[in-house]
Amino acid sequence: MRIAVLTSGGDAPGMNAAVRAVTRGALAKGWEVFGVRNGYAGLLADELAQLAARDVGGIVQQGGTTLGSARCPEFAEAAGRAQAIRHLKKRNIEALVVVGGNGSQSGSASLARDGFPVVGVPSTIDNDLYGNDVSIGCDTAINITLEAIDRLRTTASSHHRAFAVETMGRNCGYIALMAGIAGGAEVIALPESEIQPAELAERLRAAYQRGKTHALAVIAEGAKCGVHELMEYYGAHRKSIGFDLRVTRLGHVVRGGIPSAADRVLATRLGAAAVDTLAKGRHGVLVGLIKGDTVVTPLEEIAGKMRPADASLLELARTMAI
Ligand code: ADP
Repeated sequence: MRIAVLTSGGDAPGMNAAVRAVTRGALAKGWEVFGVRNGYAGLLADELAQLAARDVGGIVQQGGTTLGSARCPEFAEAAGRAQAIRHLKKRNIEALVVVGGNGSQSGSASLARDGFPVVGVPSTIDNDLYGNDVSIGCDTAINITLEAIDRLRTTASSHHRAFAVETMGRNCGYIALMAGIAGGAEVIALPESEIQPAELAERLRAAYQRGKTHALAVIAEGAKCGVHELMEYYGAHRKSIGFDLRVTRLGHVVRGGIPSAADRVLATRLGAAAVDTLAKGRHGVLVGLIKGDTVVTPLEEIAGKMRPADASLLELARTMAI
């Protein structure tokens, strides 16, 4: 078989390990593999090059994506996808593996609908993809977020302050929830479970009154009551709350890490599983891990959907904050 692989959308630590796994998994079956530069944009621009085993050497430990990624609005148009398919077919490429997040897998679903065989590999720090427990890159991003929280806690405690930490994750609160639990946050605000500035401030006040030396609020970037709203409320009620409040927005720094062991292993498993799926004649699916098992879910079923947040974990975080 002749296949191509690309990385698309927001970069995530472990994308390189996934490309390596797809390439070497396919080469092991005697197939030929092409790497596409810069995601769907490279498909439209016809930027493909054949990959040998050595071409994907020394990248398993690198963050980001050596193939490059891009956002490509033209791919959402039928004409753009038709051009992409022409560029694949003229090289006799029979299938495409797309390593990427929610938007990218909506692109895969569109390509599958147009009749081109495609398999998706979930890779996004946001972990918002349906049909999969944990996406590639998410573990590393949580660990970097957690390291920042631990460092802020040191200074918060020394100065008897509250810190509000804004985490990445787009409309999904997974990073905030996991890093918040692991970092011992007093309060966690997620897009899936909104909390008003007054209640958030009240929890910080209560922590002060219980004699805590510091308090941490972890706020997902997609939360409607974000750090801006909290600061505004705080400005007006500072005296009655006790703690001073400082805000840290972590932003893209959490995306740029060296992939954790968990992300490298996950990427290797899912990249190889994508090749095995094609070898079985299946396509138009996302490969994922659910409860430790490799599963395939039709792209039509996952496109446009979001993984639901685990309400019991949010409750657990609250119990631990006494
Ligand atoms: P991520 O994959 O990280 O969620 P984006 O949402 O930016 O990133 O999506 C990456 C790319 O996927 C877009 O630039 C576009 O080329 C493609 N894409 C997104 N949604 C669709 C869609 N509904 N149909 C076709 N292509 C899409």
